[in-house]
Amino acid sequence: MIRTASYTRDLLPAALSNDRDASAFIHRFQFVEDLAREWFRRYGFQEIRTPIFERTELFTRGVGSETDIVTKEMYTWRDRAGEDGEGESLTLRPESTAPVVRAYIQHQMWQRAETVRLYYIGPQFRRERGQRGRFRQFFQIGAEVLGASDHPALDAEGIELVMGLLTEAGIPDLELRLNTVGNAAGRVRFVAAIREALAPRAHELSEDSRRRLETNPLRILDSKAEQDQPLIAALPPIYDVLDEGCRAHFDAVRRYLDAAGIPYVVDARLVRGLDYYTQTVFEVVSHAPAIGAQNALAGGGRYDGLVETLGGPPTKGFGFALGLDRVVLAMPEHRAPEPPPELFVIYLGASALELALHAVRQARRAGIAALFDPTPRSLKSALRLANKYGARFALLLGEAELASGQWVLRDLARAEQTAVPSETWLQHLLARRG
Ligand code: AMP
Repeated sequence: MIRTASYTRDLLPAALSNDRDASAFIHRFQFVEDLAREWFRRYGFQEIRTPIFERTELFTRGVGSETDIVTKEMYTWRDRAGEDGEGESLTLRPESTAPVVRAYIQHQMWQRAETVRLYYIGPQFRRERGQRGRFRQFFQIGAEVLGASDHPALDAEGIELVMGLLTEAGIPDLELRLNTVGNAAGRVRFVAAIREALAPRAHELSEDSRRRLETNPLRILDSKAEQDQPLIAALPPIYDVLDEGCRAHFDAVRRYLDAAGIPYVVDARLVRGLDYYTQTVFEVVSHAPAIGAQNALAGGGRYDGLVETLGGPPTKGFGFALGLDRVVLAMPEHRAPEPPPELFVIYLGASALELALHAVRQARRAGIAALFDPTPRSLKSALRLANKYGARFALLLGEAELASGQWVLRDLARAEQTAVPSETWLQHLLARRG
């Protein structure tokens, strides 16, 4: 048997899944996706679909060559050389901000006066060590806000959207963590402060952090290594070294969140894994037991330099990504029940087949989820099948019903049935389904 590749999985209809792990049930993914589309509609976001693979350079430049994603986790290969030129280096997208920004530049959306609000839903690929809530192909729902404005109200609006969506999905024990990483000048000062504080104690740091002290000291704050924690805790908060403008931006985001009634905690250690962030950064975690150690559900922030880094004109940006697999994992089972079929049409005897097909068609055209199985069956076995599918109603058509013009509509949940005139059976069903 050939199985799925390591740390990838199939998302299946619940009824066809032989383990009862609801975190891989497709209807739960669809439920969150539908909810997300609805929230994006309300906030004026439009969908964008970018390719699943891009030129590698987009990510090395856009995500940052020192990040874990680029150094360890990308699926990259050299394409075969063909008539369209040299075989180029391609990469399965590990995230979608860089691709959306590429599209923003490529399609000259920057020429527009208005703020561009885009969202995406789709798979991302990272060669990670798998565990509960962490996969090599995972799904993100994300959004990017691009344009001339870096008004803090845009940051707060994006965060409000994420929190509203997660709350409506019924995710328990949410916590919003907020921080600022300032602008480039502020980060230079902060990096100098980190170097100054840590250089004399470099030998106490983990190997990764020691390397980062040279290459990218900000990332030390992300370190999970036990031995680094006391040193990280002793660092000054970045807010203290930022200039007035950056502090004012952060203070305003906080005010807007307060006004929206969204609770948060300021986490001075939050820098996020990617290089492109400026000013606001945030992360949403859930403390629900179902989700386990990988409890970050969403993250994002402002990235005012990214469009320029990728070859576009100076542009402000804010975005976030929400991990769909983890949201589904944390979502209570009752929040997204699988929609059952409403009607199962049973025919008894070959003479009733055509009429049964007609009835199924009528029901489907009226918007009813109707199932039909052409295999001839006894009434008992057909009813068993209808129950197995979880249908709420069955329509029974046999020779007697054909002759009398009175069809039998059975409420399977209540085990009650009534005879209804053949011309009005659908109205009866529509009235009863509620
Ligand atoms: P990031 O793009 O790393 O900021 O991730 C944003 C969100 O995507 C995280 O908060 C997670 O919910 C989700 N995520 C990231 N990596 C994975 C993964 N390997 N498997 C499942 N979800 C992930």
